[in-house]
Amino acid sequence: MSSLASRRTHDITPEAFLRRVRRLYGEVRADIRRALEAAGNDPKSLPKELWKEIEAKERRVFALLLIGFGMASMNNWFDWHEEQDPGGMDRDGADKQFTLLADRRATWAARTVNRTTRKKLIHRMKTYEPGESMRSVIQDVIPDSRIVTATRTEMQAAQGLGPEAIRRESRRIYKKRTRVHSVLMLGACEHCLVCPLFHRVDMKFVREFFPSAMPIHPNCCCRQVLVFGLKKEVLAEGLMIPNPDRREIIRAMAKQGFKVPQYRRRS
Ligand SMILES: [Zn+2]
Ligand SMILES: [Zn+2]
Repeated sequence: MSSLASRRTHDITPEAFLRRVRRLYGEVRADIRRALEAAGNDPKSLPKELWKEIEAKERRVFALLLIGFGMASMNNWFDWHEEQDPGGMDRDGADKQFTLLADRRATWAARTVNRTTRKKLIHRMKTYEPGESMRSVIQDVIPDSRIVTATRTEMQAAQGLGPEAIRRESRRIYKKRTRVHSVLMLGACEHCLVCPLFHRVDMKFVREFFPSAMPIHPNCCCRQVLVFGLKKEVLAEGLMIPNPDRREIIRAMAKQGFKVPQYRRRS
């Protein structure tokens, strides 16, 4: 596998990220409009291939953007690891993890966005009046606000790919002796009831409740950061705090209206 280092020059700015996602959804809107017209405006009889093609297109664009936007953070965390543990990690190994994570995230994002689009389209067409402009119908289904939210979410996700790649690679190399742990760092933006409970908590625990972390919800500005040391050391230093009570998290999630995962009893 070629090193990602060669792609370092393709750093993507937040503006470029948003521009590219807007362009993508300009195309997606047109694709759906054309297909809908060909299907006699029946959203349920749109061919499966259409959604597959759209999803594949989204996946490709998101993967490139995630890699381009997440690269700076990846470089920083790799350098951080070099300082803590000189020569302890191979760049190619870390890059492999990074690309894998970006692809996985892009697949997830494309699937999630698409599912919402299909649902919204079917819902919107229920109130469709003959003569209504199809352009404005599609605009209702994919408004700019959705594009902005998706962009913000994926930019957040991109920032988390680097630290997660480093954590995984360390885990792969050192197994249980790994000294790289990731914790959630509370952001400065308006908080929900849940995020503050996760401040400095092990991301492994956070994932029990939010499997697709990070971000754990739209517009969440919390970050995933790495701490270095044996688990008991980082706990003693307060770099990580012990896991909070599960029931407290579940109560807060329910209050906030987040989908609460099936409670798994631990033996
Ligand atoms: Zn939150
Ligand atoms: Zn948050």
